[in-house]
Amino acid sequence: MGKKADRSAKTLKMLSLKKEAPRSAFILLVLLFIITVFITSKISRTSGEIILFGTPFEYSSFVGVFSLLGNTCLVCLGLLFRKTGYFTALFLLLNQFPIMYFNIIVHGNYRNIPGLFNNAFTIIAITIIFVFNRRILAYQNSIREQAVKDYLTGLPNRFACGELMEDYIKRVERFALVSVDLNDFKSINDTMGHDTGDAVLKVIADRWKELAESGVTGTNDFVARTTGDEFMIIISGYDSSESVEKTISFYRSELEKKITIDDCDYFLSACFGYVLCPEDSDIIDNLYLFADATLHEIKKKGSGSRVMRFTHEVFNNEKTLEIERKIRTALNENKIFYNLQPQYDMQHRLRGFEALARMKDDDGSLISPTEFIPVAEKTGLVDRIDMRVFELAVQFMADVVKDTGSDITLSVNVSVRHLMKNNFIDDVKRILHTHHVSPKQIEVEITESIMIDSADQALQRIEELKQMGLKVAIDDFGTGYSSLSYLNSFPSDLLKIDKSFIDNMNTSESSRQYVAMIVSIGHTLNLKVISEGVESPEQIDVLKSIGCDYIQGFVWGRPMPPEEAGKLVISDSQAG
Ligand code: C2E
Ligand code: MG
Ligand code: MG
Repeated sequence: MGKKADRSAKTLKMLSLKKEAPRSAFILLVLLFIITVFITSKISRTSGEIILFGTPFEYSSFVGVFSLLGNTCLVCLGLLFRKTGYFTALFLLLNQFPIMYFNIIVHGNYRNIPGLFNNAFTIIAITIIFVFNRRILAYQNSIREQAVKDYLTGLPNRFACGELMEDYIKRVERFALVSVDLNDFKSINDTMGHDTGDAVLKVIADRWKELAESGVTGTNDFVARTTGDEFMIIISGYDSSESVEKTISFYRSELEKKITIDDCDYFLSACFGYVLCPEDSDIIDNLYLFADATLHEIKKKGSGSRVMRFTHEVFNNEKTLEIERKIRTALNENKIFYNLQPQYDMQHRLRGFEALARMKDDDGSLISPTEFIPVAEKTGLVDRIDMRVFELAVQFMADVVKDTGSDITLSVNVSVRHLMKNNFIDDVKRILHTHHVSPKQIEVEITESIMIDSADQALQRIEELKQMGLKVAIDDFGTGYSSLSYLNSFPSDLLKIDKSFIDNMNTSESSRQYVAMIVSIGHTLNLKVISEGVESPEQIDVLKSIGCDYIQGFVWGRPMPPEEAGKLVISDSQAG
């Protein structure tokens, strides 16, 4: 067995073992015992008296006290230091017998007789303690085995990994934590049964254990099985991250060798995600989290490299999964809601509202749509969000129109992905029909990217919307690279100039000219133009001077709950 692997095995043995008392306590107890023996023999031979609390006592009357104190030290040795303590105490006690015997027989010092009995009883006492201590230790060992070992393979388990990492961190020793997941192991379980699956796991465990103990990897490796088909390897004593990958390659090739069970051959492979301590983190929980996240990232990618080191990018993907989970929960529990941001013409008359999706985090705080909408788009959940917001906002419009007869416009965001779905048009029709809202009062906002990515199919859908009577707006205009010819062929009604241009308009002449140019292009193509993200009265002045048609921005109104928006419509219609 390699020297390094030997250290690993020793470390495992040490795990969770009840630590003995410190060596200094051992020395102190022995010294105390020797002092009491010395005092006892001195005072047993000294005649005279000592006055304590006004009462005279003979020196010899303290012999019992000191000999009891001495023997108590030996009992403590037996209790605290198990085998070493017991044999030291036995040695010290047995050593006294010849002296006592000599004193009694040769010197006729019969005061030593109780001491003889005292020592004999102490030997019995420490022997009983020793026997019981051994039983307790054996029991502790079996519990320890259960706590740190995996029952199926006999390898250490996740708990043992935690203990070992804690130990390394305490000793400021660097190491790599490798999270391993077998590929397609489930299919073995499903097709050949769990017994075969277990047998395969045992073979892998034996091979890896042997490899770790052989020391051929050149590093100090500790292999553990965590759950099911997941393993962990803790590698220390390496020079660089390349050496870590080299060690992993040993485990990989050992695994990929043919496994034969009941005359059937199995060929396995695995993914290895690893994290370095302290470079990536020196907090155990984070190390687990990072290694597992890296593993999931490899699995998600499907093909390509099967070995990967943790990077923070991986963690962002984990965050994506977390947001996805939150979106699903919010959708299932009907917790997606919306706000309405007012849009005005340049005379500050209400044009309408843009409906914006809102979602709360577990702690009640809001998660920004700029964070959850891209995740929803990636995971195909955006159409459910769009439809939910659409239905709620259309219901709002129905109430407002019924109460005030207002002819305002409701803008809704529709993701390209959603627009392309076959049932999109039917869903829109159904909702408008259910709430008796005129399509003329609804505007669909589609981002400019649609003209670049999927122009032809998109065009067809937009035509259908237009035929139904809906308006179409091109959102975030200016951020993409759509050409004028696309814009010309698109049957849109409104251009929404992106906030980024409005932001710089008052400080940069070129931005101002750019905005002016978009306004004039829009007007040339017979489109209305709205500026998004207007925050200051100075911006309004500039926009008025260049002929912009509408304004949407914090300067005249932030996104608000529908109740507030309802009041705004009432006050606007009364003013009008
Ligand atoms: P958007 O469609 O361009 O919406 C305008 C965004 O600009 C909104 O952000 C709005 O709150 C913000 N905004 C408006 N005026 C100002 C201003 O003066 N200053 C500043 N700093 N911000 C302003 P929000 O609500 O965070 O939405 C972000 C984006 O998320 C939206 O950009 C839209 O692309 C997307 N989104 C929101 N709701 C939905 C939805 O229901 N479906 C889809 N597919 N996308 C949505
Ligand atoms: Mg929008
Ligand atoms: Mg926008």
